[in-house]
Amino acid sequence: MAYGGIEAGGTKWVCAVGDGDGVLTESVSFPTTEPQQTLERAIEFFATQADLQGIGVAAFGPVDVRRNSAEYGHIAATPKPGWAHFDLLTPLRERFGVPVAIDTDVNAAALAEGRWGSGRGLENFVYVTVGTGIGGGLVVGGQPVHGLLHPELGHMRIPHNRERDPFPGCCPFHGDCLEGLASGEAMRQRHGIRAEQLQDDAAWELEADYLASAFTNIFYTVSTERIIVGGGVPQRPGLLEMVRERVRALVAGYPDAEGVAEWLSADEFIVAPGLEGQAGALGAIALVS
Ligand code: ZN
Repeated sequence: MAYGGIEAGGTKWVCAVGDGDGVLTESVSFPTTEPQQTLERAIEFFATQADLQGIGVAAFGPVDVRRNSAEYGHIAATPKPGWAHFDLLTPLRERFGVPVAIDTDVNAAALAEGRWGSGRGLENFVYVTVGTGIGGGLVVGGQPVHGLLHPELGHMRIPHNRERDPFPGCCPFHGDCLEGLASGEAMRQRHGIRAEQLQDDAAWELEADYLASAFTNIFYTVSTERIIVGGGVPQRPGLLEMVRERVRALVAGYPDAEGVAEWLSADEFIVAPGLEGQAGALGAIALVS
């Protein structure tokens, strides 16, 4: 069996074919240009593949992922030129005549991590990516949460001590939301240097505090069993350990039920992804396989 997957990112697209069992057999990648042209390149790639059973799309958001919506599969309002209300699914469905499905890139990555990566065996877990922006996919009872549209974990509010951190935040909508304070872009604007090159310990302690606030909120909201943290910023050696320590301190022993404290103290509560850079493409395939 062969399944197609598109990781439709804001800067690049990855088109892949896999066996539906967590293995990619072929993939190509190209920059995101204007929508029609980008989608045509994807169609050209899939046209060379035999026996595709379905195509899944893991899209940058916001995107309409409500299956009963007239705009299912359309990119929602976005500042990205030309992409607002672009229909990603109909051209694929018409050209290939196979089932097509779409979800957010982070919900798809969460699904892939649940099937083949760091979320295996769990019904309730969260995948968070901390890169240029911050996004998150929630899996509750084995299903990705959509709700009114889809979760936007990156825009939750967290405490911001302006004496310690006078940076006003970089989110164009909210200023100092989580993404505005703790994304790679926020770090670059605050410190004037990219996160990969940042060596200042105090800067990383601030980052760990912000992520710990967010992860504590996630834990208390959905009682998640695991938080899988992907993206470029958590590549910093030692960052996840700092975040774990702070989450334990913020939780402060509550709730005190058998096994809960032990679970939170285990290194398995906040973990790195198991699928490295493949979670997006595998997640797209997971939507149709
Ligand atoms: Zn925001």
